[in-house]
Amino acid sequence: MNAPINADLHCHSTVSDGTLEPEVLAARAKANGVELWALTDHDELGGQQRALEAAQAQGMKYLTGVEISVTFADVTVHVVGLGFDHTDPQMVEGLADTRDGRGPRALEMSNQLAKVGIHGAYEGALKYAGNPKLVSRTHFARFLVESGVCRDTSEVFRKYLTEGKPGYVEHRWAKLGDAVRWITQGGGIAVIAHPARYNLSPTLEYALFTEFKQHGGQGVEVVTGSHSSAEAIRYGELARELDLLASRGSDFHSPTESHVDLGKLPPLPAGLTPVWSQLRDRIH
Ligand code: AMP
Ligand code: MN
Ligand code: MN
Ligand code: MN
Repeated sequence: MNAPINADLHCHSTVSDGTLEPEVLAARAKANGVELWALTDHDELGGQQRALEAAQAQGMKYLTGVEISVTFADVTVHVVGLGFDHTDPQMVEGLADTRDGRGPRALEMSNQLAKVGIHGAYEGALKYAGNPKLVSRTHFARFLVESGVCRDTSEVFRKYLTEGKPGYVEHRWAKLGDAVRWITQGGGIAVIAHPARYNLSPTLEYALFTEFKQHGGQGVEVVTGSHSSAEAIRYGELARELDLLASRGSDFHSPTESHVDLGKLPPLPAGLTPVWSQLRDRIH
């Protein structure tokens, strides 16, 4: 039997909240044995052309990618898009609207942090944002580590940036159906990213996948840097039960912050249909 292809279809560059430029990521992916790659910056397509050209220069196959922030039943869910048309006007405009919410949200986060004695967080986070339109919690986390408030970014999230903590601000992102449509109308496949991270009740998880499929969503991330091996098995079973395509991606952000490097993931569990097998005509 042939070895499975090393596909890594989830990671971030300086265009969103990663620390490496798209070209540096491409070289790192290649060095780590990745054969099929996608850059999936949060709510932003500004790195796609660079990533495609860098992948081609490295002799790697490439799928266009994005990770769209969605609000579903008051929970933030991430939807990865693969193989879509990255010039589709509805996608481009929809993402621009989604990004626009980030500025006011970041200012509000900064105000909240000031109330607990952490000052200048907005300016501090902005210094870390390669893209000023895309200030994320990750950039705040890096600033709080730099200022010595916390030892590492996971401590920042635990103490300050998650629900119920002082720097957490409720936010409404894109709608699930819109995100799925932007992806599918441009010939791509929509994938629910790292489902174990949402801590959904069984009822809500069922509702999420049911609505996702009704909108035309077809995939689920099974093997990701954000899943334990037990979670990969669990979501492999869910993919089989719900007849979903399975995806694999490290969710790599940074050499010092990410636990899983590009391409350094276990293979998909047996018996699943890889999402890339249905995107053959979309691969560059
Ligand atoms: P935002 O889109 O601004 O809400 O930021 C979300 C990003 O924060 C995710 O894409 C991750 O990169 C990062 N993140 C979320 N939760 C954690 C966590 N517990 N530890 C480290 N990074 C996290
Ligand atoms: Mn991120
Ligand atoms: Mn995510
Ligand atoms: Mn991600």
